[in-house]
Amino acid sequence: MKEEAKKTDETTPLPERSDAEILELVKQGKLPPYMLEKTLGDMERAVRIRRLLLESNLARDGFNMQPLPFEQFDYSSVFGRCCENVIGYVPIPVGVAGPMLLNGENVHLPMATTEGCLVASTHRGCKAISVSGGATAVVTTNGMTRGPCVRMKSAKEAAQLKAWLEEPENFAQVKSDFDSTSRFARLRDIKVAIAGRNAYIRFRSSTGDAMGMNMLSKGTEKALAFIQQAFPDMLIVSLSGNYCTDKKPSSMNWIEGRGKSVVCEAIIKGDVVESVLKTTVRAMVELNTQKNLIGSAMAGSIGGFNAHAANIVTAIFIATGQDPAQNVESSNCLTIMEPTDDGNDLYISCTMPSIEVGTVGGGTHLPAQSACLDLLHVKGASEENPGRNAEKLAEVVCAGVLAGELSLMAALAAGHLTRSHMQLNRAK
Ligand code: NAP
Repeated sequence: MKEEAKKTDETTPLPERSDAEILELVKQGKLPPYMLEKTLGDMERAVRIRRLLLESNLARDGFNMQPLPFEQFDYSSVFGRCCENVIGYVPIPVGVAGPMLLNGENVHLPMATTEGCLVASTHRGCKAISVSGGATAVVTTNGMTRGPCVRMKSAKEAAQLKAWLEEPENFAQVKSDFDSTSRFARLRDIKVAIAGRNAYIRFRSSTGDAMGMNMLSKGTEKALAFIQQAFPDMLIVSLSGNYCTDKKPSSMNWIEGRGKSVVCEAIIKGDVVESVLKTTVRAMVELNTQKNLIGSAMAGSIGGFNAHAANIVTAIFIATGQDPAQNVESSNCLTIMEPTDDGNDLYISCTMPSIEVGTVGGGTHLPAQSACLDLLHVKGASEENPGRNAEKLAEVVCAGVLAGELSLMAALAAGHLTRSHMQLNRAK
């Protein structure tokens, strides 16, 4: 702890007092810990004092805070934006898979993970794709959603609200208010579902290069205020009525899509399946049917018709500053494998209806995350075509999943899964 020799008293400005004195003020309840950054004007010092407070509150023998690093971090990019009550940061290793030939370009995938085997396996999938001529990915729908719950006096009035919103001229007015809240958010459509006298209104909007959740909340709030003028008895129960659906499994996202709906496909040459993936086209197709289609149907899965999409989605999300909790819906994926070219080659596609990503907003501006976006050539806003960077990132995520599917399915088909995990997870 750094102690100043200078004597201080009640009149000494807080930033000039010692760490011990500040700590004492916090302990006495005279300074809330969350105010440390603002009060001291020195973010790292605020973090250091919060750590001291935690250590003294815990007062546990043998507890050591040191392995959790806190120095040499730009807290100004975090404060008021990304995290509160900060006590440090957790370093996560970032591996690179690829290059993978995707839409004619070589792509290197940054993956933040502590799961041994994952990067190596995805890398193998990338290799199989690239030597076979590459993968193609396309965004088929693009729109983030917010689904508030409003309550009417009766089911009849709820039905009237639905009919009113479905009138094109009313929609146009709602859209005008919604769109006025952002330079990039543009309301695409509204879907209303009735439950008793509740109406669930799903607003869907394009969001440029942002993932768009804050934008949607802002636009929806303004739109609801406008709708309320036409329906003064309408009670806004909640800006989010779970009809969005954010960060929870739902058939809604699986069927309607959310964020970017993407399909990625590739044809893997039969000899590559054998030399790189160490299995056969037939074994891959058969396993995909038994596991990803029938097995997932037997489990009553929603959106889980894949081997491990969530692994790749989450690793890329963490590396590139996405909201990692959105891996729930972003990992929805249907993996299809078919024999092609008279059974000699393997056709594979991954259909992912709800990939929620952005290249501005959230954690994307943090230096390390921003560097990973730069590696993918999608850092920040696309100047020439707003929204294209975020779409490209969604395509990369889907292509990464396709590579991951290829490699894990091949390992399972060849019976190599446990062996490679033992080698790479328990090497020490
Ligand atoms: P945001 O950072 O809140 O908004 C994006 C900002 O970037 C807007 O101010 C937008 O301008 C500006 N912008 C500049 N260039 C842009 C471009 N090319 N495309 C799009 N925007 C551009 O980000 P967000 O994606 O809306 O929200 C993401 C955050 O929401 C994350 O931190 C996430 O964790 C959090 N989140 C919120 C909720 C919620 O319920 N609110 C739920 C889940 C996650 P304009 O001002 O003109 O729009």
